[in-house]
Amino acid sequence: AFQPRMAVRYDSVKSTNLSSVTQILTNFQNQCATPLPVLRHVADSMSNDMRAGLAFDGGSDLKMIFSYVDFLPTGNEKGMFYALDLGGTNFRVMRVQLGGMDQRVIATDAVQVSIPRELMFGTCEGLFDFIAFGLAKFAEKETGAYQHPQGRKKELGFTFSFPVNQTSIDSGILMNWTKGFAVSGTVCDPQISVGRNVVACLNEAMQRQGLDMQVSALVNDAVGTLAGAKYWDNDVMVAVILGTGTNACYVERMDAIPKLPIQNTQSETTIINTEWGAFSTGLPLTEFDEKMDAESMNPGEQIFEKTISGMYLGEIVRRVLLEMAVAGSLFGGSIPDKLQTPFSLGTPHICAMQQDTSNNLDAVGSILFNEAGVKSNTGARKIVLEVCDTVAKRGGRLAGAGIVGILQKMEEDVKGLIFGKRTVVAMDGGLYENYPQYRSYLHDSVTELLGPSLSEKIVIEHSKDSSGIGAALLAAANSKFRHDF
Ligand code: BGC
Ligand code: MG
Repeated sequence: AFQPRMAVRYDSVKSTNLSSVTQILTNFQNQCATPLPVLRHVADSMSNDMRAGLAFDGGSDLKMIFSYVDFLPTGNEKGMFYALDLGGTNFRVMRVQLGGMDQRVIATDAVQVSIPRELMFGTCEGLFDFIAFGLAKFAEKETGAYQHPQGRKKELGFTFSFPVNQTSIDSGILMNWTKGFAVSGTVCDPQISVGRNVVACLNEAMQRQGLDMQVSALVNDAVGTLAGAKYWDNDVMVAVILGTGTNACYVERMDAIPKLPIQNTQSETTIINTEWGAFSTGLPLTEFDEKMDAESMNPGEQIFEKTISGMYLGEIVRRVLLEMAVAGSLFGGSIPDKLQTPFSLGTPHICAMQQDTSNNLDAVGSILFNEAGVKSNTGARKIVLEVCDTVAKRGGRLAGAGIVGILQKMEEDVKGLIFGKRTVVAMDGGLYENYPQYRSYLHDSVTELLGPSLSEKIVIEHSKDSSGIGAALLAAANSKFRHDF
């Protein structure tokens, strides 16, 4: 309980104190404003923080993680591979039959399983056993479309959407949980500087299930998206995830990575996972953001993520509405428990409200009633929509500035690399996919920052679910048996 609870008392309905509600709204809008100079500062800071993070570990908020993905899929990959995606409220398992250059993807199928909430706070074994069990059940049902060479372990690309200190293409240590996960016994302990290899956690759980499968590639979802999207379109240079959490990765030149680990590769480029969710320089933040951060499971961390990603947008709106209800009786003096419950209002709800264009805003009213427990008149609903729009606008525009920051950094290093030809930014995640206003604010921001002639070269493209195929392709490219082909 972070706010004193007040009983719902409809007998003492107060009238809304409009001037105090308007004042809260205006203050909030002013603090969230993202005029061009703010966007430009964010884009420039993103570029600078990228460079600082590439110089040495801890050089900036951006971890700039080396992915060990030096060779992107060529199209020649063949055979059956599995992919497992863990990173939000669901995990997804997928099976892919790759047919090489001419046939490409011959068959795929997938299942999605929701993760029981208690497993997000449980033990490492608990979480991984649950996942391996789901994977084993799925793997039992291979149809004739899939051909697996006899006498070989099946291979899996593991998309693990958290910051991992990668030690090779198939090993890495979790640095910290994000997005509300807090599984015990997994995070690298700074005292003894060892954590658990997440690949070992999964391999061991698969063994416990008697599943004859092994991890051949460990990839972040952004990295999987880039690999999957580039398989179809070679102009893809950047991938961005905007879902529950957020992240971006891009193709970097080896000689632009001062902190490069020693490795024997012929490749001149690699993929860098920026972990941009941790970015924080120059963001327009409000008292509501600060309180939400302070009360979160990871205070002080993932500030960009808390400003622009799906897990948090609805919660920011709820906090503003609560303040308006307390200080200005926005909902007639009633302050129900639901309105006081963190995360009761989700981003899908604020998105759905913004799609209501009717006169009385009835859909807004019923969402407010169902999710926040409040009764509202048309005037109050209009204010609510203003709050939703302010949060979506700030989020979308800042995400756009982040993308421009990455493009800018790449172009500064090699003139013409980005703006000299067509360049594709592959996007994925439910927020980008399902929230039209957010998406168009993002596009506007990119266009405003780049101007008409440069933004013409940039294609921002939704690559739906390409991280699954991407992970399977990377498992193929890094197959333990690749020399047998
Ligand atoms: C994680 C990233 C991930 C992103 C999108 C963030 O919370 O730190 O690793 O790529 O969410 O899923
Ligand atoms: Mg995902």
